[in-house]
Amino acid sequence: MIEATVIIVGGGPAGSTCARELKKNGIDALIIDQNEFPRTKLCAGWITPKVLADLELAPQDYPHSLLVYHKILFSFKKIPLPLPTRQYSIRRFEFDAFLLKRAGVPVHKHRAKDIRRENNKYIIDDEYKCTYLVGAGGTHCPVRRALFSEIHPRDPRLCIATVEEEFAWECKDFRCRLWFFENNLPGYSWYVPKQKGYLNVGIGGKLDSLKKRGRTINHYWSLFTEKLSRKNFTNGHNFNPRGHIYYLRGKTENTSRENAFLTGDAAGLATRDMGEGIGPAVESGKLAAKAIISNTPYSLKNVTQWSAPQILKSGFKEDK
Ligand SMILES: Cc1cc2nc3c(=O)[nH]c(=O)nc-3n(C[C@H](O)[C@H](O)[C@H](O)COP(=O)(O)OP(=O)(O)OC[C@H]3O[C@@H](n4cnc5c(N)ncnc54)[C@H](O)[C@@H]3O)c2cc1C
Repeated sequence: MIEATVIIVGGGPAGSTCARELKKNGIDALIIDQNEFPRTKLCAGWITPKVLADLELAPQDYPHSLLVYHKILFSFKKIPLPLPTRQYSIRRFEFDAFLLKRAGVPVHKHRAKDIRRENNKYIIDDEYKCTYLVGAGGTHCPVRRALFSEIHPRDPRLCIATVEEEFAWECKDFRCRLWFFENNLPGYSWYVPKQKGYLNVGIGGKLDSLKKRGRTINHYWSLFTEKLSRKNFTNGHNFNPRGHIYYLRGKTENTSRENAFLTGDAAGLATRDMGEGIGPAVESGKLAAKAIISNTPYSLKNVTQWSAPQILKSGFKEDK
């Protein structure tokens, strides 16, 4: 049996941030992830300056693709609203592997399935044992499934269905575009160029609203990709997209019990307006580490709930 004081299930931004904080404070932590890093994570890869600040990462110190946007071209029901701001795009393939390595803790490739509590310890698949357990396994986190599904049930109205693709592409237009509510989509679609020859395009909408409209997210994806071609953004590209679901922020009570904690998408923390989840994952990873280090209660109530203020605030700063 492999034993550590803290085991973190999931090496995404929530897990790696938690691990880094624990390591800084001399607490022995181990991450298990079902994937070898770098791994693909479906995500547009847009981050706010606050995310970098929370990660204590200066943009110039990040060694991979990082594109700065000085404006986001919003469109609401086809009404354009260009907003000055300072935002970034990264590639999750690079970003998550960088953060995980930087955390400096051992990472084991293992798919956690069975989790139980026995004699004040958590046992994972009869192979791992720990005193503290952090659920950072995203939407389908096994810690959530084993220990929290009853006390922190998910609200189906907060479920977001997404389809996206990130691919090598020499963009001619490096401006970030977000189209809200087009064709009656209960959400938005995006065009997020990256540095060094990549592009991410995708679409996301509330699943229950899609069902009420009798539509699937794939229907809107088809309309979206037709539009991208029409506008000459992705001409000639043969799309091969993938889908994923995750949850917007709901209630944050009961996200810890005994010595177990839920973070990031496992806790359902993406912002209510934009579905931004990297920032809340980082914030919650830090809070879980703090609760373990100082033996204080774990509360997610102050984790960022809305993205719009961050976007507006950094635009204001950018203008100065
Ligand atoms: C299409 C799409 C676009 C998005 N765009 C943005 C965006 O532009 N900006 C933004 O801020 N947010 C965005 N989000 C949300 C963001 O991706 C998530 O909120 C964020 O990744 C959550 O981080 P996390 O660390 O909680 O989980 P994840 O990043 O999902 O990491 C979880 C890790 O757990 C591992 N894992 C899962 N199950 C197991 C298991 N059983 N055993 C071991 N390991 C396991 C996985 O392999 C994974 O590495 C988007 C989401 C989607 C789906």
